[in-house]
Amino acid sequence: MPDVYVFQGGEPARMAYEAAERIFDEDASVLSVLLKVNTGFKGPAASGLCTHPEVVRGLIRFFRDQHVKKLYVGDSSIVGVDSVEALKSAGIWDVCAQEGVECLNLDDSGMEEREIPGGVMVQKLKMSRLPFQVDRVVSVPVMKTHMYAGVTLSVKNMKGCLYQKDKTRLHRINQAPPDIRKGKCLDYGIVDLMKVCYPDYVVMDAVVAMEGFGPSGGPPVDMGMVLSSKDALSADLTAIQLMGMAPDAVPHLNLLREDRGLDLADIRVHPADYLKWRRRFQLASEHDLHLNYPNPRVVDRGACSACHAAMVQFFRYHHQEYENGPEATLIFGGDATEEDCRGGRVVLVGNCTARLRGEGRAFCKGCPPVPSQIARTIDAGVTLDD
Ligand code: SF4
Repeated sequence: MPDVYVFQGGEPARMAYEAAERIFDEDASVLSVLLKVNTGFKGPAASGLCTHPEVVRGLIRFFRDQHVKKLYVGDSSIVGVDSVEALKSAGIWDVCAQEGVECLNLDDSGMEEREIPGGVMVQKLKMSRLPFQVDRVVSVPVMKTHMYAGVTLSVKNMKGCLYQKDKTRLHRINQAPPDIRKGKCLDYGIVDLMKVCYPDYVVMDAVVAMEGFGPSGGPPVDMGMVLSSKDALSADLTAIQLMGMAPDAVPHLNLLREDRGLDLADIRVHPADYLKWRRRFQLASEHDLHLNYPNPRVVDRGACSACHAAMVQFFRYHHQEYENGPEATLIFGGDATEEDCRGGRVVLVGNCTARLRGEGRAFCKGCPPVPSQIARTIDAGVTLDD
């Protein structure tokens, strides 16, 4: 039976240590272990954007006390973000240096292509090598809402093990999902990924979480919690209930539950009254970008997290320039159609929209596109060459 442990109100490093203590029952002295943190984006430490550095410290101390054979801490950020810079700004690089542990960009360990047994959306994926070289992988995500996947927790965190640009691959699948009522391509793609990359353990940072326009543009939520489990899916299903969602609210978790045959009733959460700490998160789908930024209008058709981050940055730094300017429409994502481009001043953003060029539409290249270049393209009203 999967057990999930929830700690609340303690010092983050201490909670992480105790959370690991509850689930880890092997002889670490013969094992190499990777702490797969979430530093997909570059931003301030302990802000809900990336895994809390003190949670990482607590886990390093736990494994050191267990005499672990070899310990690594690492992640690979979204396309367009320097992974080492993201680890540094998250405070994790310094914690690793202080504790004497190797911290790395997973892409630097090389690439290996993995066959996906019974893959539904993809048959092969390019992965970073290290997660397959170590004996155990601990997923150490930060609790966040996600505009496409609903949430990003210990399962979705493993997408950072995809090698370099293959991270965007699950957003660019040009085929219909088996049952759109159950999930989109990305949801089925995450289940495919889990067939080769299911973590061995989870210690989830919910000290400072993120709600609303996640995974990069939402406000922080002070939860003061750490969760742990030997089963990533059980940890995530517990976490979404702490976030105020129903257990069946997240398509990729529903599909994974079906795939792995997990019965909700089998999950045992400690303490049993953990929902006393529940808090209703604003969902990414409830966040209306247009309420905050009415112009330019955004049409998002399946853009990946990297384009999403560019969009957030664009509005953060440039929205005032367009508030009272002429109306424009920014189109993102590989699923955009001719229909989306009808009428008004259209700017196609990102290489995924290149096939819709022509008809006087301006195009801002980039994968991901650069926010200042989006602004320049809107101003020019035409495609810029550099
Ligand atoms: S163009 Fe944008 S949506 Fe397309 S893969 Fe690149 S970053 Fe992602």
